[in-house]
Amino acid sequence: MQWEPVIGLEIHAQLSTRSKIFSGAPTAYGAEPNTQASLIDLGFPGVLPVLNEAAVRLAVRFGLAIGATVARRSIFARKNYFYPDLPKGYQISQYEAPVVVGGSLTIHPEGGESRRIGITRAHLEEDAGKSLHEDFQGMTGIDLNRAGTPLLEIVSEPEMHSAREAVAYMRALHVLVRYLRICDGNMQEGSFRCDANVSVRPKGEAAFGTRTEIKNLNSFRFVERAIQYEIERQIDVLEGGGTVVQETRLYDPDRDETRPMRTKEEANDYRYFPDPDLLPLVVPEAMVEAERQALPELPEARKARFVEDYGLKPADAMQLAFDRDTADYYEAVARVCGDARLAANWVNVELAAALNREGLDVACSPVSAERLGGLLARIADGTISGKIAKQVFEKMWTEGTEADVIIEREGLRQITDTGALEALVEEVIAANPKQVEQYRAGKGKLLGFFVGQVMKATQGKANPAQVNQLLKKRLDE
Ligand code: ADP
Ligand code: MG
Repeated sequence: MQWEPVIGLEIHAQLSTRSKIFSGAPTAYGAEPNTQASLIDLGFPGVLPVLNEAAVRLAVRFGLAIGATVARRSIFARKNYFYPDLPKGYQISQYEAPVVVGGSLTIHPEGGESRRIGITRAHLEEDAGKSLHEDFQGMTGIDLNRAGTPLLEIVSEPEMHSAREAVAYMRALHVLVRYLRICDGNMQEGSFRCDANVSVRPKGEAAFGTRTEIKNLNSFRFVERAIQYEIERQIDVLEGGGTVVQETRLYDPDRDETRPMRTKEEANDYRYFPDPDLLPLVVPEAMVEAERQALPELPEARKARFVEDYGLKPADAMQLAFDRDTADYYEAVARVCGDARLAANWVNVELAAALNREGLDVACSPVSAERLGGLLARIADGTISGKIAKQVFEKMWTEGTEADVIIEREGLRQITDTGALEALVEEVIAANPKQVEQYRAGKGKLLGFFVGQVMKATQGKANPAQVNQLLKKRLDE
């Protein structure tokens, strides 16, 4: 029997607001426990939540970016359950009427076909607090700093069919939320986490199998491995004549397996009802329009433009376009140097390596886009070779100087004077009679040896194309 996995993801993206979704307490990460929880976050009686407009604006922006419908009117509901990190006894979320409905996202699975995945909905909700099990012997600490942090829960259609596709979806979403500057995407800090719903069905069958939900996956690798494990486990259960139980499971990275956490409550166990403390959310037309106007060119469109206008390979274009700061930097470099492909190469290879080495973001690069463009302009106009440019780049990186200053100071201009190069060619030929003989006897590969000799004599400053040409002409005489 052939099995087809079916996967749907629920992703919680923490919205980048300064204060919480229903209170004025700060959302900054890493504060002393329980210093950032207001009476509202603590669920004191008699206090009232006030919706944070910034959270709404970020949700609207997301909706527009995925081609969704931004609901004119949506409702906040109480999702009732007991847990020590939830002092109110309910989480404020959106249930029947979410703020973002529909839309889709293009994914690029590794080694597979790109395709679109439907997004069912995205709704606003508050995060809960955090239980700390490690620092207290035999007891659990509760940190409520996180309580009330604004989240956008983004729910996909059950349209992915492999762990690889699920990871590609999560990556595409991660690229998008950072691009829109609605979420910092920091997975270690819990700003972007994933619940994966997994089922399998006989290939060709339309009805879904029973699903399990793997909670709180906070890395791409864990998502991929947890789903892969779960697919295999369900197939084993079914092939062994058993049935899959609908339940919530946890992934244990140390053992690389999922384990049951609790059987899935029926949705109505949460006793959702509209929160009487909050009015329906009515998104003003002006807010939607303002967000629409301010929407940046999106990663997919930008990638397509890089391929189309600059003649880049799709993979190179993707690497540049999928991070907004990198894309901006790249376009500035290309503008200054006038050679878009050369710029792409340098940003993706030399600059990326240097940034990586020092653990820096492109926005903090010690070599600005204008300066890198200035360096590449000197390759483009033949002043220096690509090889010398790498030396110059290293100096620019450490000294913070312009390329032209370094080129002049160190006498790095390329030797393009034909007379001078011819003289060097003569010297090299005279000094290596044996190789000349071998070359002329048919060992054409030796041309590289001669070029190398001339380059060595000039510390790499001879124009390699010219040297090649002159040598060939002289040797083939
Ligand atoms: P709940 O609110 O109980 O978590 P939803 O119906 O909202 O359930 O679905 C949550 C997620 O589960 C969605 O991403 C959806 O695509 C996915 N999903 C639903 N049914 C299945 C299934 N049979 N197999 C895999 N994923 C599923
Ligand atoms: Mg769910």
